[in-house]
Amino acid sequence: MGNGIMDVNNQTLKENICNMTLNAGFSRVRILARFVFPENSTGALKVRYGSGSPSLLVAALPYGNERNVGSKYAAAEEKEEKHEDIEEKYRAYIAPFAQRNYYKEAVKRLQKLSQTFRRLFGGTNFGCRSGYRIFCNSPIPEKPLALACGLGGAGRNSLVITPEAGSLVIIAAMTLPFPLESDPRYEPRALRLCGTCGSCMEACPTHAIRQEGGIDRNKCIQWYASGNEAAVPQSIIEKWGQRLYGCTVCQDVCPHNKKPIKGTETGEGILPAYVDARKIIAMTDEEIRSFFKGTVMGFSWLKPEHIRRSAGLALKESL
Ligand code: SF4
Ligand code: SF4
Repeated sequence: MGNGIMDVNNQTLKENICNMTLNAGFSRVRILARFVFPENSTGALKVRYGSGSPSLLVAALPYGNERNVGSKYAAAEEKEEKHEDIEEKYRAYIAPFAQRNYYKEAVKRLQKLSQTFRRLFGGTNFGCRSGYRIFCNSPIPEKPLALACGLGGAGRNSLVITPEAGSLVIIAAMTLPFPLESDPRYEPRALRLCGTCGSCMEACPTHAIRQEGGIDRNKCIQWYASGNEAAVPQSIIEKWGQRLYGCTVCQDVCPHNKKPIKGTETGEGILPAYVDARKIIAMTDEEIRSFFKGTVMGFSWLKPEHIRRSAGLALKESL
């Protein structure tokens, strides 16, 4: 094999790689035999990456539900961080999954693994065909990849549900320079994981979840909180509550997320469970960028005006 890649039994190699990934703290790992971009990839990405790599590792990093119990906006009072004493009506809440930058943590862990894999099994540092390239929260949609190799099944709420940690995971992927065998789909029949359950559909404050599965984005609070440019409709505003970022209702009620799921320890991108909405509204763009830098709310597509808009919607509850 070229590129200094060790010629070892592929099944053994696959087992080693998967075990090492689990040991690095991921709750589940699967392999896609050949990395071909899914249909909804943009043309630009297809051109840039060509036909793909010999195989792709897809892994789930759990953020768990330890801080997710007993609060209307997901556990502000459970957090260990000391908050400023902000009067309840001025609080704008940040969901637990956004209180740490789990994406950055996943990338860091995969980077470290890639160095070990390279040392042990060969390949180059970079490049899809001969090396290790990491995708996480990128324009490349990880969800279809995760479903294709059995990382999880699709829930009615459109999230990937993994057997070990429900949907309380972030998904990351890394190209591998070895032709490994694909893992099978976890659940070939759509929505079988859901059975007769319709809890997320019933609980969604804006009725965004479809009976047949999937979300009507125009009705989803999270979609607007994530920086969608469209004006927020009145029907959504009425259900916004005091959220600054993150609606988790459809995850909170899901039976697959009810067991205790341990989150990953990370010091990356820590945010408090709530901030003072009035302060956010009064901040300049620069101040907002600086406040959220390195956190999940610091991603380039979430602009200061979107964050200010969410703070305004959270504050309107107090008027
Ligand atoms: S994130 Fe919130 S608004 Fe969106 S589908 Fe889930 S429960 Fe509904
Ligand atoms: S709450 Fe029920 S219907 Fe919704 S994703 Fe979870 S199992 Fe499926």
